[in-house]
Amino acid sequence: MDVTKKDLELINQLSLTELKAEEVYAFRVVCCDNLVDRDYEKFSDDALDKMAELYAGKPIISDHLPMAKNQAARIFRAQVEAEGDVRRVIGYAYIPRLDSTKDFIESIDTGLKKEVSVGCCCNRRICSVCGDESGGCGHRPGKVYDGKKCYRILDGITDVYELSFVAVPAQPGAGVVKSFGGDNADEVRAQGDCGELEAQLINVEIENLEREIDNYGN
Ligand SMILES: [Zn+2]
Repeated sequence: MDVTKKDLELINQLSLTELKAEEVYAFRVVCCDNLVDRDYEKFSDDALDKMAELYAGKPIISDHLPMAKNQAARIFRAQVEAEGDVRRVIGYAYIPRLDSTKDFIESIDTGLKKEVSVGCCCNRRICSVCGDESGGCGHRPGKVYDGKKCYRILDGITDVYELSFVAVPAQPGAGVVKSFGGDNADEVRAQGDCGELEAQLINVEIENLEREIDNYGN
């Protein structure tokens, strides 16, 4: 992915040292979308917009490759991109080209599909059938009511956490892996600043932008 002048400005706001375009490797991360997942949950449009706002500046760390913290990839901007009815939060990330980041860059560059797990914090889950937020309405996600399948709408994003590379699941298409009420939730609850929170882990994939240069920067 080519780094535009504007991108480089954003990158240098985050970088400790002034980087030139040729010293930067940039790529795209699909963070999440607005589709109903296999747990019958989906993000609201507001949630996606908020996440795009919050992802800017967040690091992407790797548990495979030993890298110093300041060498981790970092999202320098994020935006919601629509393709038909599907809206996706796309993060644009960079990593400095160094000897120590060569392997990391190569693994993305070769087009290997990598998974990253992402954590976010939301305080509203809304029933698609009746709009209830208490969880006590009795409508069951996945069940059909008046011809429409019930799901929960995730809204009220209060925070997103760093993204991290994880091992690619043994089963392809294993889908979204989420855990509510995990360690992160407890951690944020302890701070007491955003009410009833749920930490959510979502498997997302990295796209190799080399193939999509045409769509970028136009
Ligand atoms: Zn309901």
